Amino acid sequence: MATILNGNTVRDQIKAECLPRVTSFIARTERAPGLAVVLVGDNSASAVYVRNKTKTAEELGLHHETIARPASLTTDELLAIVAHLNARTDIDGILIQLPLPSHIDSQMCLLAVAPEKDVDGFHPCNVGLLSTGRPGLRPCTPSGVIEILKRYQIPIAGRNAVVVGRSDIVGKPMALLLLQENATVTVCHSRTRDLPAVCRNAEILVAAIGRTAMITADYIQPGAVVIDVGMNTVRTREEAERVFDPARLADFDKRGSLLVGDVHPGDMARVSSAYTPVPGGVGPLTIAMLMRNTIEAAERRC
Ligand code: NDP
Repeated sequence: MATILNGNTVRDQIKAECLPRVTSFIARTERAPGLAVVLVGDNSASAVYVRNKTKTAEELGLHHETIARPASLTTDELLAIVAHLNARTDIDGILIQLPLPSHIDSQMCLLAVAPEKDVDGFHPCNVGLLSTGRPGLRPCTPSGVIEILKRYQIPIAGRNAVVVGRSDIVGKPMALLLLQENATVTVCHSRTRDLPAVCRNAEILVAAIGRTAMITADYIQPGAVVIDVGMNTVRTREEAERVFDPARLADFDKRGSLLVGDVHPGDMARVSSAYTPVPGGVGPLTIAMLMRNTIEAAERRC
């Protein structure tokens, strides 16, 4: 039986570790670490993500603010908001919720965030620090994956790790973090030849693709550890039949849609030695790591 790598358990551990750090920061500085979230427009998924982030910040006793602006906001107006947050001494972390409306220059706005307050870890300064192995703020989702592996005592050093996906947010930083842990890393993408064969070489396989249950048994080396970062919604019965076992299919029929990762859930459970389920695997870690980054940013600044 494969071990289920429970992201909720790891999230709770990380949150519990954050609490005393917040308390001692407040005792030392007479203020709580501060997180500002900038939300532009009325994307309902973004609004939910922001609510979840601020709810967790609240639980941990962080100071938090949501700066919500209409979709008509211009790039210059957003740059002015960022400049103001950069200058504020009570704000340690700035997060611009993506995606931004298409008329806003996202790259320019992300670049404007002071690197020491870039709690998403997306600024090129922090990317550079990561790629040269120096301390800095790390992207939340991939550093959450490393936490899961370490806390389940899964050896990384010397192992063949394959990362499918090369985005700036997940795939590339994931590969760099695994390399930093001394894995032998291969990064795959949409132009990789014979992807199943490359994936079968993985002792640790990370899927960050954004394609519903694309990774099936023929991609997984028996006994591999599989980390499924993907978050996709199954909406049609035909797709649900391909992806789910009868119990979850019944659940699908009740709800009309269900979340699934990039890895086929049944194949992953059958062939791997350990895996992160979707939901309840990598997902819960992202917000916990954001909180930890905010506390770290505050501790470094004060
Ligand atoms: P992107 O769309 O930015 O990147 C997807 C990557 O997958 C690209 O590098 C792309 O290759 C590669 N890819 C796409 N199709 C194929 C294919 N058929 N074969 C091989 N490679 C392929 O996605 P993200 O990195 O932002 O996110 C990936 C997944 O992770 C999504 O499902 C997203 O929802 C989820 N996610 C989950 C989070 C969490 O908290 N759990 C947080 C962030 C993301 P190429 O570069 O060649 O186009």
